[in-house]
Amino acid sequence: MNLEGIVKYHFPKSMGISDSPRATSPDAMTGTDNMAAMGMTQSRAAFGYSAFLGKMGISKHDSERAINLLTDHALKTCDRVPALRKLESDIKPSVMQILAIYAYADYSRSAASSRECDCCGGAGFIDAEVFTMKTSTPVAALEIMKKSKEWGLKVIPSEYERRREVRDVQRVLCHKCKGKRVISNACQCNGKGVVVDREKTMLQGGIPAYKTCSRCNGRGYSRLLPETVRHAICENIIDVPETTWRRAYKEFYESLVSELIKQEEYANRMLSKATEW
Ligand SMILES: [Zn+2]
Ligand SMILES: [Zn+2]
Repeated sequence: MNLEGIVKYHFPKSMGISDSPRATSPDAMTGTDNMAAMGMTQSRAAFGYSAFLGKMGISKHDSERAINLLTDHALKTCDRVPALRKLESDIKPSVMQILAIYAYADYSRSAASSRECDCCGGAGFIDAEVFTMKTSTPVAALEIMKKSKEWGLKVIPSEYERRREVRDVQRVLCHKCKGKRVISNACQCNGKGVVVDREKTMLQGGIPAYKTCSRCNGRGYSRLLPETVRHAICENIIDVPETTWRRAYKEFYESLVSELIKQEEYANRMLSKATEW
């Protein structure tokens, strides 16, 4: 059994995650075997195990644990970056914590997940300026029209109308999320990670050829913008100029995301081993 098998174990019917149909598949194993294997993985690969369980929404407690472990890891390794080493000891833990929280959020994203719409702030509606044309006929003009009619003259009412543009603020449906309040994290490749290679398809005489999506690098979903992380640090702890972020922080932040992936892979290997009787 691998980590995805745990999801199947927790949500037996609701999710159709495919696992290798081997003798060690969750169905073939007893509940006790599974519990023992999971327990073993939990103690030997606590970090990756918690990271995965939190990511899959199985346990919130595990997300918190993974973030704490990642913060510890960040504190242990940040001194190799001079700009981070120089941070005052009273703010360094907070900076590392923010980096860990965001790295975990990025790691937890998948094409199936969604995030709060940044256009309407999760309200579903936005205030939009609308211009409407208002028409009115001045009292004096009405008098003239009345008199003209009495004298048997032809009257075209619109000629007496006064037009003016009125600016108004209206609540309209947010165009980005279309009122759904959230937007999908799936990339424009529909979360597939691949797109049709037009050139190659042409060369092959119309037989579709595919290539890795350059927008998401094959991940299938859009990543959390590193700029968002910088803003969170600036707003809450210390001002980090854009250049400093790019030169010193960004790579370190990316290494935290990689650490989570690495730890998950490690837990995955541990669990597979524990279930190979
Ligand atoms: Zn919206
Ligand atoms: Zn893509």
